[in-house]
Amino acid sequence: MSPTSFDLQGKLALVTGSSRGIGAAMARGLAEAGASLVIHGRDRVRAEAAAAELAASFGTDRVHAVAFDVTDPAEVSQGVAELIERAGAPDILINNAGLQHRVPLLDLEYADWERVIKTDLSSLFLIGRELAKPMIARGSGKIINIGSVQSELARPTIAAYTAAKGGVRNLTKAMAAEWARHGIQVNSLAPGYIHTEMTQNLVDDEAFNSWVVGRTPAARWGTVQDLVGPAVWLASEASNFVNGQTIFIDGGMTAVV
Ligand code: NDP
Repeated sequence: MSPTSFDLQGKLALVTGSSRGIGAAMARGLAEAGASLVIHGRDRVRAEAAAAELAASFGTDRVHAVAFDVTDPAEVSQGVAELIERAGAPDILINNAGLQHRVPLLDLEYADWERVIKTDLSSLFLIGRELAKPMIARGSGKIINIGSVQSELARPTIAAYTAAKGGVRNLTKAMAAEWARHGIQVNSLAPGYIHTEMTQNLVDDEAFNSWVVGRTPAARWGTVQDLVGPAVWLASEASNFVNGQTIFIDGGMTAVV
């Protein structure tokens, strides 16, 4: 294998939901591997602040910021058109923006079910469809959909999230089925329990925290840094014959009962 096959120099990456958390860490990792970045969030101020922080390390010419709500089809079309005009068509898309909503299934309001499905599943279709077009025209591209251990395993109180993340796994296969022949590799990274803002309340909950540590063979929470190497690999030439796969980055959680 070429020692330069993880090199992302000259590539442009859009990481959705990269204003914080796992997305911000993956964006920095791609930049360290040489890529230019489009930082994204719903909150423009937060996205611009995250982009400025990255630009301080990698230069303003390599870092752009966009803000749009991934659940709104019109905003997605407009946001993607705006970013292509400003920065060019991305070579790499990481569909990472997501949210969680914890409530027992019998108490789950339809509006909340729909909000989670739209954010964690439908948005991947909307943004993937927009960005696959220029990738197909170019004959190359990398799409990484962020799943979860809930792409495989259920747990009480997170039914909508489990349904959405299970859908991410199969949507990844469906995208690969249609787009692999055009030189696009579509795969999913499925994180285990990672310490971020989304999970801070769980880290603070003593019972939940000891369940995570006990249930994970690696006996710890994941860190956002644990996602960086796998993301760089799937964004690079090193993964050119990997298609439609879901790779669990979970300290072994889905490997054991
Ligand atoms: P955070 O809550 O820390 O960050 C979420 C990011 O997504 C923010 O940048 C946020 O932007 C953005 N976002 C959320 N909703 C929207 C929206 N409607 N439109 C645009 N942007 C939006 O999340 P994490 O870093 O923890 O999670 C990132 C991904 O990883 C998610 O898909 C999550 O499901 C997945 N994951 C996380 C795990 C964990 O343990 N943390 C475990 C397994 C999977 P803004 O602030 O502007 O709203």
